[in-house]
Amino acid sequence: MGEFELIRTYFLPLAQAAPKGALVLGLGDDCAVQRLPAGRDLVFSIDTMVEGIHFPESYPPDYLGWRALAAAASDLAAMGAEPACFTLALTLPEANDQWLARFARGLADAGSAFGLALAGGDTTRGGLALSIQVHGTVTQGLALTRSGANPGDLVCVSGTLGDAGAALEYLDVTAPTEVERELLERYHHPQPRLALGQALAGLATAAIDISDGLVADLQHLLDASEVGATIDSARLPLSSALKTLTGERALQFALHSGDDYELCLTLPEQALRAAPEAIRDQLTVIGVIDSQTGVRWSDESLSASVAETGFDHFRSRP
Ligand code: ADP
Ligand code: MG
Repeated sequence: MGEFELIRTYFLPLAQAAPKGALVLGLGDDCAVQRLPAGRDLVFSIDTMVEGIHFPESYPPDYLGWRALAAAASDLAAMGAEPACFTLALTLPEANDQWLARFARGLADAGSAFGLALAGGDTTRGGLALSIQVHGTVTQGLALTRSGANPGDLVCVSGTLGDAGAALEYLDVTAPTEVERELLERYHHPQPRLALGQALAGLATAAIDISDGLVADLQHLLDASEVGATIDSARLPLSSALKTLTGERALQFALHSGDDYELCLTLPEQALRAAPEAIRDQLTVIGVIDSQTGVRWSDESLSASVAETGFDHFRSRP
């Protein structure tokens, strides 16, 4: 199968099925054309996944399609952006029909779940890797950034942490138990917090999505905002599946493992109190922003171990 037949067979139908939204011209020309509504800023980002580094070899292609788009969409969530469309640069060792059909299905499912239309891309031969550029829009001037946290703001995270990282230990289990499947689902089908991010634009003072682990990503937010934080590790939201399967190690996963694609954000206490219940329900307060840089953990032994082990101690990537 040639390059153009491959695009026509697997990606053109996917692009045609997607709601066009702001796309004036979609896949098939030299460029796509996106129209920006008046008063909106364009927010865009690119994410690359390489076989053997960001996903294991022989990883199911439908899961790969979903995960790659979810990871890219999560950056839009962190900026409070409304999703619009995406492009896909795909490098493949060979044109395998079965693989491509499953990959396109995972991508299509994620595209319709997140409201992202395929607008074009590039197809090349080589080691398996894919880059996805996502486009979204926000009300002019309202994009959430990492740099707006102020002393006194609360530090919050969405959902539960550590699940996707712990799932890595079960990727090769042939008949996972129900609780193992719960963790695996968090790894295979991450749910970027798009609605939450958009609801927080104008409310939160700073935000970042957690792709590399709370300790690492919180530090990026603190650095950009030139502040520090006091964090109560006992407050980190842990799923019962994580606690059941990892016992005493649960906290380490929540602190250091990535791939959850939850949000970490800051906002004044009164803003949280005034927020709709649907927003508050998704958030857990884990600490407070200080003017003194660095992170002070409630548990002193943790302060020492976090400082000592650095940021990627627990990142057992496949
Ligand atoms: P060009 O040579 O002008 O860059 P291509 O021949 O690479 O164009 O691609 C032809 C059309 O197919 C373009 O509209 C491009 O966006 C689209 N396309 C190519 N590869 C992909 C892909 N992997 N996914 C989606 N669209 C693709
Ligand atoms: Mg061209």
